[in-house]
Amino acid sequence: MPRFTKKELIEGVECVSSKKIANNTIEYHRENGERVIRHFFTDILTFKPNGDVVIDCGGYRSFTTKERLNRYLENANIFQERNVWYLGSWSTPKQDRIVYFDGIIIDKNGKVKNPLPQNSIDNQEKAKKNFDKLVKAYLDKVRGMEKLPRPSGGDCWYCAMHTKEGESWGDISGDTEHIKKHLRTKCIQGSLIFNALLHKGYRYPDVIFQMSRYNPDSKKDSHSMVCEALRKYFRDKLFTPTGAKHIPAKKSKTTVCAVSIQG
Ligand SMILES: [Zn+2]
Repeated sequence: MPRFTKKELIEGVECVSSKKIANNTIEYHRENGERVIRHFFTDILTFKPNGDVVIDCGGYRSFTTKERLNRYLENANIFQERNVWYLGSWSTPKQDRIVYFDGIIIDKNGKVKNPLPQNSIDNQEKAKKNFDKLVKAYLDKVRGMEKLPRPSGGDCWYCAMHTKEGESWGDISGDTEHIKKHLRTKCIQGSLIFNALLHKGYRYPDVIFQMSRYNPDSKKDSHSMVCEALRKYFRDKLFTPTGAKHIPAKKSKTTVCAVSIQG
């Protein structure tokens, strides 16, 4: 994870005072009296003079972002269960949990001022079910394959091209549309598998490819390693952006929560 200086983090921001408060995190004050916590290049918390606080992680839901939010939030807490962020804590009864979304406003008593309408919560659940179904169909196809395809020049460029440091073009650009398309169309490519294995932490994906191709006894193992890696890759890239890069400028505020994959 790169570390940025205060000067880099505050560049272009109009403020009356600012200070660094943690790694890649600064606090600054606006002329209108607002106090802001900025993590990387996203204003994750805005404390209004009237006591309201706006939470917005700009679509990047990493462990560190959540930690920073909870560190500086005074009358609310965010926790994660099964890849969904909620306001409350583990002990909050299920029916009282509020699904977090970017732009959520909490008043000084810890009450949400702009709750999502029920239908948008239903839509998120629907999107999650739809996503799970697509992933299952994709992995079923992988499991049924006699041989896993090896990375090839004919694969999608976003998956196939890598920087010297080994990052794919898709990851560098932050564009996930191609991954959505591969998932939807059940397009199984060596480069995508390779990237998923790297993402899961395997340093030598080649070995897993070899296992699957030349050793019938270990084929089952290698296929299940690949499936687990793909499951994580799809989830992290499409469903809960982990913000591994976390560098792009602030996104629009239209993101509600989960990505919806349709049609
Ligand atoms: Zn691709």
